[in-house]
Amino acid sequence: MEVEYVEDREDKIVFIIKNVPVALVNSIRRAIIGHVPTMAVDYINVYMNTSFLYDEMLAHRIGLIPLKADIDKYNFQDKCECGGEGCPNCQVSLRLNVEGPKTVYSGDFISDDPEVKPVYDNIPVVELYEGQQLMIEAVARLGTGKEHAKWKPVSICSYKIIPKIEISDCSLCKACVEACPRKILEIKGEKIVVNDILKCSMCMECVKVCEDNAIKVEETDNYLFTIESISMPAKEVLKRAINILKNKAVEMNEILKHINS
Ligand code: SF4
Ligand code: SF4
Ligand SMILES: [Zn+2]
Repeated sequence: MEVEYVEDREDKIVFIIKNVPVALVNSIRRAIIGHVPTMAVDYINVYMNTSFLYDEMLAHRIGLIPLKADIDKYNFQDKCECGGEGCPNCQVSLRLNVEGPKTVYSGDFISDDPEVKPVYDNIPVVELYEGQQLMIEAVARLGTGKEHAKWKPVSICSYKIIPKIEISDCSLCKACVEACPRKILEIKGEKIVVNDILKCSMCMECVKVCEDNAIKVEETDNYLFTIESISMPAKEVLKRAINILKNKAVEMNEILKHINS
């Protein structure tokens, strides 16, 4: 398996992964969106809400605020010594006590653990008018995207096939060059060349317009994988997903050994 980075930023990575079955690539994607844990607000306790929003709408908005956290410091509640009741090892409270007139932002929450805080301070939650008040405790815990989208560590996690384009016996009619919506085909000298195969969407427009059947677009075992992360670096998301898959494979082997013995 070969991996080559095309883009390498803290919050976004794009890489080419070569000679792998599609099932493995899809397993990585599913592990990322469903199994890599993050911290998010599970529920809110409302002590005062005289804003124009219902408690449920506030809870929904607050739940979707991405939180930064050292996730290794916390236990999953179902595996915590407290038995899931909630304790400082498995949950953290973020408190809000504000009065209008004011726009309430994610940065107005005061966390019991300074390491657990909103990724961005400028996410608007609600606008309070003169005399309106909010007094809320938001309780955050570890969770995974399998349970609810608010625990997903990524905003984008996708892959696409990098196709192989072959051109032979071409009459240079230029029909494919004009038909390609991504503008990646061009005439160079006496032939048609593909100037950026990574941009090909496999829409097959070039094949449809070629009256000479000179162009072929085929699937390969090479993929372009994109991860845009929210609350931790994109490479860390990938590393955690691969470790989760490895552990699952070990567990599966144990189960199979058990069945076969
Ligand atoms: S398959 Fe679509 S995007 Fe790819 S080269 Fe052909 S027309 Fe362009
Ligand atoms: S449409 Fe077919 S024949 Fe025309 S330039 Fe493209 S590949 Fe060549
Ligand atoms: Zn606990």
